[in-house]
Amino acid sequence: MDYSHYASLYDQLEKTSKRLEKTHILSEFLKKVPSDEMETSVFLLQGRIFPEWEDKKIGISSRLIIKAIKKATGLSEKIIEESWKKEGDLGNVVEQLISQKKQFTLVNRTLSAKEVIEKIRHLEAQGGKGSVEQKLSIISDLLVNSEPREAKYIIRLVADNMRVGVGSGSLRDAIIWAFVYDVTYDSEKNDISLTDEKRQEYNILVEKVQSAYDILNDFSRLAVILKSEGMAGLEKIRIRLGSPINPMLFVKAKDIEDAFSIVGRPAVFEIKYDGFRIQAHVSKEIRLFTRRLEEVTEQFPDVVQSIKDNVKTECILDCEAIGFEELSGKYLPFQKISQRIKRKYGIAEMAKQFPVELNVFDIIYHDGKSLINEPYKKRRELLEKIIPQKEKKIVLAKQMMTSDNDEAQKFYDYALNIGEEGCMAKNLEGIYKPGARVGYGVKIKSILEPLDLVIVGAEYGEGKRSGMLSSFYLACAAEGEFLEIGKVSTGLKENEGEGVTFEELTKLLVPLITKVEGKLVTLRPEIVIEVGYEEIQASSSYSSGFALRFPRFLRLRSEEKTAEDINTLEDVQRLYAEGSGRG
Ligand code: AMP
Repeated sequence: MDYSHYASLYDQLEKTSKRLEKTHILSEFLKKVPSDEMETSVFLLQGRIFPEWEDKKIGISSRLIIKAIKKATGLSEKIIEESWKKEGDLGNVVEQLISQKKQFTLVNRTLSAKEVIEKIRHLEAQGGKGSVEQKLSIISDLLVNSEPREAKYIIRLVADNMRVGVGSGSLRDAIIWAFVYDVTYDSEKNDISLTDEKRQEYNILVEKVQSAYDILNDFSRLAVILKSEGMAGLEKIRIRLGSPINPMLFVKAKDIEDAFSIVGRPAVFEIKYDGFRIQAHVSKEIRLFTRRLEEVTEQFPDVVQSIKDNVKTECILDCEAIGFEELSGKYLPFQKISQRIKRKYGIAEMAKQFPVELNVFDIIYHDGKSLINEPYKKRRELLEKIIPQKEKKIVLAKQMMTSDNDEAQKFYDYALNIGEEGCMAKNLEGIYKPGARVGYGVKIKSILEPLDLVIVGAEYGEGKRSGMLSSFYLACAAEGEFLEIGKVSTGLKENEGEGVTFEELTKLLVPLITKVEGKLVTLRPEIVIEVGYEEIQASSSYSSGFALRFPRFLRLRSEEKTAEDINTLEDVQRLYAEGSGRG
């Protein structure tokens, strides 16, 4: 298929904010995609060039993109930058500049979707010396052969900033509508026409497809399977060592009573460790993935070694890695060790300076067999057999079983006393449901719970903070939109070594700027932070209708959470109704 079809699809998608309409547009498009192009196509629909689980990003810098536009158009960097300042998006800039030029020149050849994705994949593979020149040639060659609209989306693709708003739910449903369940979309009502009975059948089918996706983590493969084999193809999807699966998530319980009412009695209580989640795939080769399924094997040679020394069977383990102080053995908050996750150099020193202990709390696969349909108590029994207790290396999450509110409350208080966030309660019969926030396990945190919010804007500071972003607009999620709820600047540090600094956060945010107006910048919503506060108030100052009183930055959450995982407006409404923090 020509890339121009994709460009016009993106335009259509950008024009609507209705989820169902987007799904409809996508499904009609998918129906037309030839089988041998399905894989490529689904990547392009998501604005990516590799599967979700691959730890590869294109991420070409704005600098390099400007140089490539210069090379392709012959215009000076100054002109391009000025236009960028006005437009705030390099994709729009290139569209305009090329359409001005195109009045005089003709496109040399038609770009196919396959060529675009192959060339851009090639960009990722370029490393080391001379690569900048090669990258420039690849991008500018694509631009020279693009129509203005194609150029816009090529630039957005290489900048990893597609912004057409295809969420994973819409894509999943579009694949279903295109290949396994004929759904008629009623644009007037913005609804799908299904009888109650059909809707039930449809919902069950969606759930099955979602479960398959939670194991695959690859919409391209899902689409290929459903198109060629229909629902029967899903039966063949197996958990595979080395391919990460979406971890099970936990719902929140208000208190101990609430926890029991969700998971039943007796229940197992575990400390909610303040570390980060690691999914360990153990065979001859060991591979580690974060909760967001990014591979971190290289970053944690110490963890790989502990597993190698102590785990002697093939399995997939669900664990929390917790940092501790070498000398005193005292456990450290997540913030202290978070820098290890993205580290690309000095890894051995980091491992020495910030050692971690692996707390194994679940097992998903063992000895060639999936365990996701086994009850929790069986999975735990197995863990007790195969994981030895090696303090400060690898241990089983400590737990107690009880039916008694007072005993559970004591355990929870103990967790808070030793500085942990709270505890988890688990249903003894619960299966392991990948990717789902089902009630087989709950987390119980203190009532004054912090919120995970995404930064959507910021303001440049003055005086000693000039040149740095110094206050940050925060938003919660509401049906695919982000609604503002406050502004934070407290809690960030001036100096390195004390915690996350203004400088560090600025560095993370600057590449995400989409618009500049004086001191104010608008940001692509990607950086998630945990925010504490004294109280939630109703307020007309922010689009959510709420404001946080005395908000303070607690920690960066982007290693574990994307903007899809942040607290929702519904959470905020609930906390407000509970009178969170008042008194
Ligand atoms: P939250 O990040 O607040 O949604 O809480 C869920 C997270 O708690 C999980 O993703 C784990 O990383 C972490 N966690 C800490 N201790 C445990 C435990 N004992 N069992 C399960 N998850 C745990």
